[in-house]
Amino acid sequence: MPSLYIHIPFCLSKCPYCSFVSYPGLDGLHQRYAAALLREAGELRKNSSIPPLTTLFLGGGTPTLLSGQDLATIVTGCTGLFGRSDQTEISIETNPKTVDQEKLILLRESGINRLSIGVQSFNDRELQSLGRPHSAADAAETVRLGRAAGFDNISLDLMYGLPGQDHHSWQQSLERALSLSPDHLSLYELTVEQGTPFHPRLEQGQLELPDEEEIAAMDQITATLCRQAGLARYEISNYARPGHECRHNINYWQNGPYLALGAGAVGCTDGRRQQKTTDPLRYCEQIESGQSTVQEEECLEPAASFRETVIMGLRMLRGVSRARLQRRYGMDLDGCYGDTLTRLIDQGLLEMTASHLRLTARGRIFANQVMADLV
Ligand code: SF4
Repeated sequence: MPSLYIHIPFCLSKCPYCSFVSYPGLDGLHQRYAAALLREAGELRKNSSIPPLTTLFLGGGTPTLLSGQDLATIVTGCTGLFGRSDQTEISIETNPKTVDQEKLILLRESGINRLSIGVQSFNDRELQSLGRPHSAADAAETVRLGRAAGFDNISLDLMYGLPGQDHHSWQQSLERALSLSPDHLSLYELTVEQGTPFHPRLEQGQLELPDEEEIAAMDQITATLCRQAGLARYEISNYARPGHECRHNINYWQNGPYLALGAGAVGCTDGRRQQKTTDPLRYCEQIESGQSTVQEEECLEPAASFRETVIMGLRMLRGVSRARLQRRYGMDLDGCYGDTLTRLIDQGLLEMTASHLRLTARGRIFANQVMADLV
């Protein structure tokens, strides 16, 4: 089992577009939560026999709201239990204003070797409209502190398609990001999910998002600027310098197995997907009293898992490996999709190479529609 995800569900405040498992104002629970995570890790290790981790990812929420010492204890505790090698990728997500130099040095010394910074925009007006509690200057300072602490693998998250944004402000934001020489960029279009404060505002016409033409212009700018900066697109929303692709996320896109720890975390092993209790206090109580933290469990039938593997694999530019599908499921693409596949290829949305099935450039524009046909 190569990958372990640890969820830290705490944030400074709740962004109005956020649908992740994250809670503000639970500072008093942080240390107890860190202890519960380590206890859960010990239980998980007892029940799994695995080679050293290839990736470990601390995501959130905002993991760096925990103290540097708690985070270092979690990382060294987990790598001690599960094992690691020199090649193990250990990532942590952070947000500006939640780290200082001392904390970053401690994190680097604990073995974390990849820093993923949630910037979202380098335009202060846009940051305000997103309810982000930091400025563009704070984000740039976090990158500087990260480099000074010895992180040579830094990723920045930005969002486009924001309220009031146009392609000029996107270009400025992206140029500012690239001027900081990131090793990796995750660039996601804002999606307004039901249940978030943005949703009723959008429904009531109080939230004006850029139209399709503006989004297409932003995509064009992204392609040009990233290429010029030497960042290759390797997944629909992700760009990296050679050798800096996120291995943890590649495992997700290959629909590979992964262990998970923490409130709201989702793990997938042996054809079973489990989500842990989402409430952090309840999670701690369950761990402390030796109860199961599994809130939901889904068993994946091979045919459903095959389709999932195809859909997720198509997110990567290289596509989904035909030989790997055959080895894993004993099924091939024609057998599963028949005429649908032929139609999507004839429409120029998919292409079959000798080794892979992948989206064409046109297919990437209509990716959601293609995926819907393949579900
Ligand atoms: S910082 Fe991230 S996880 Fe936290 S509320 Fe904002 S979007 Fe959600």
